[in-house]
Amino acid sequence: MSMQQYEFWFVVGSQFLYGPEVLETVAARAAEMTGALNASGRLPCKLVYKRTVKTNQEITDLVRQANYDPACAGLVTWCHTFSPSKMWINGLAALQKPWCHFATQYNRTIPNEEIDMDFMNLNQAAHGDREHGFIGARLRAPRKVIAGYWQDEAVQRRLGDWMRAAVGAAVSKGLKVMRFGDNMREVAVTEGDKVEVQAKLGWQVNTWPVGQLVETMDAVTDAEIDALMEEYRAAYDLATDDLATVRYQAREEIAMKKMLDAEGCLAFSNTFQDLYGMKQLPGLASQHLMAQGYGYGGEGDWKVAAMTAIVKAMSEGKTGGTAFMEDYTYHLEPGNEYSLGAHMLEVCPSVAAARPRIEVHPLGIGDREPPARLVFEGHEGDAVVISLIDMGGRLRLVCQDIHCVKPILPMPNLPVARVMWQPLPSLTTGLECWITAGGAHHTVLSYDVTAEQMRDWARMMDIEFVHIGKDTTVESLEHDLFLSDLAWKLK
Ligand code: MN
Repeated sequence: MSMQQYEFWFVVGSQFLYGPEVLETVAARAAEMTGALNASGRLPCKLVYKRTVKTNQEITDLVRQANYDPACAGLVTWCHTFSPSKMWINGLAALQKPWCHFATQYNRTIPNEEIDMDFMNLNQAAHGDREHGFIGARLRAPRKVIAGYWQDEAVQRRLGDWMRAAVGAAVSKGLKVMRFGDNMREVAVTEGDKVEVQAKLGWQVNTWPVGQLVETMDAVTDAEIDALMEEYRAAYDLATDDLATVRYQAREEIAMKKMLDAEGCLAFSNTFQDLYGMKQLPGLASQHLMAQGYGYGGEGDWKVAAMTAIVKAMSEGKTGGTAFMEDYTYHLEPGNEYSLGAHMLEVCPSVAAARPRIEVHPLGIGDREPPARLVFEGHEGDAVVISLIDMGGRLRLVCQDIHCVKPILPMPNLPVARVMWQPLPSLTTGLECWITAGGAHHTVLSYDVTAEQMRDWARMMDIEFVHIGKDTTVESLEHDLFLSDLAWKLK
């Protein structure tokens, strides 16, 4: 399902106490607000005004419908009036979809002359919000609270950002990952508990033989390759005369896409240590698949492959880009410190500053023919790097704010795509924090999601979240990790 196929249900809390006229006004205003929010263009998905709920049964019935409707990606609740919260308990206890408590009110300001007790009884969001907030806290229900006036751009954008995280949760729950071969030998951080991941995040992570991929590659026709070569020429500069090598990548891409689509997989991993029967490590092939929204992880890293697919789904329609990334090497010039990210081949061209070039170069490892790959520089801008690690018994999502720059060196002999950035709060403190938290070398680098969205997503999935940003210190992080470790052991 694409972003626009998901919808969110706007549910307004009230009660019978105020009489039918007030309830009619509440319903009319809720419909008006829904229309205006949809018309703002700032919500990625449709908001649907469902109903003004007054009883336990209404809420429970609505939650049941929401749980079983695959198009419903979450609930947005609002209390125009006071809505006694004991009637929400059964519904909220059963809720399996993301929940946002929208703390807003219909009128922006308090009117001077018109305000009387009738006005107060109709417009008492401040009162209703607190009752609604209590029951969320009392039930320990995971929820997002967004406070502010519903017509304000910043508030609408935050609601839209939360919706994107909720779509990420929906995509996660149905995600299938195709592993071509196992993980790279001896590497720890790319391992993980696939049962735990499926229970928590919904991912179906399974393996397919490389031999089946080779058979599928053998069945690819010249006409299919010709068509994909045209796509390559339209999107990239063909900076090589070695067309046979580029065509081989096209063959790999077509075969992988056929297998992914046949199984409904949105993410895949492979490893240079298991290319049995293949002449090249997929480079351009994996890069162009990522450009189409598939997640990828190198060295068998299925966790980063899945996260890449989820973040791409969350940021559908955005233009900053999201890529599989790896921290490679540092530039430690005092006052001018950067991390250089790249991979052997497979960085997604969605983050490119300019039109990527298809080049062919030897690959030092993997014992195969020189593969074709896309070479480009990442663009300037604020971004995040995201790493999901398995702590043994639980999952931890580490997210760091970074600022990407135009690479400060041309690096003419580096034959791969590259992105250069400054981690926050600084390279060295940011690095100390990242290492302390156990973040991997493989990450999802995205210009299109924020740490707040990833925190929202982690809350929806009920996993630990660690944010490293401009205000993080090693001391505060160590303290947080210590307490978090205790809390998650008890949970
Ligand atoms: Mn790697």
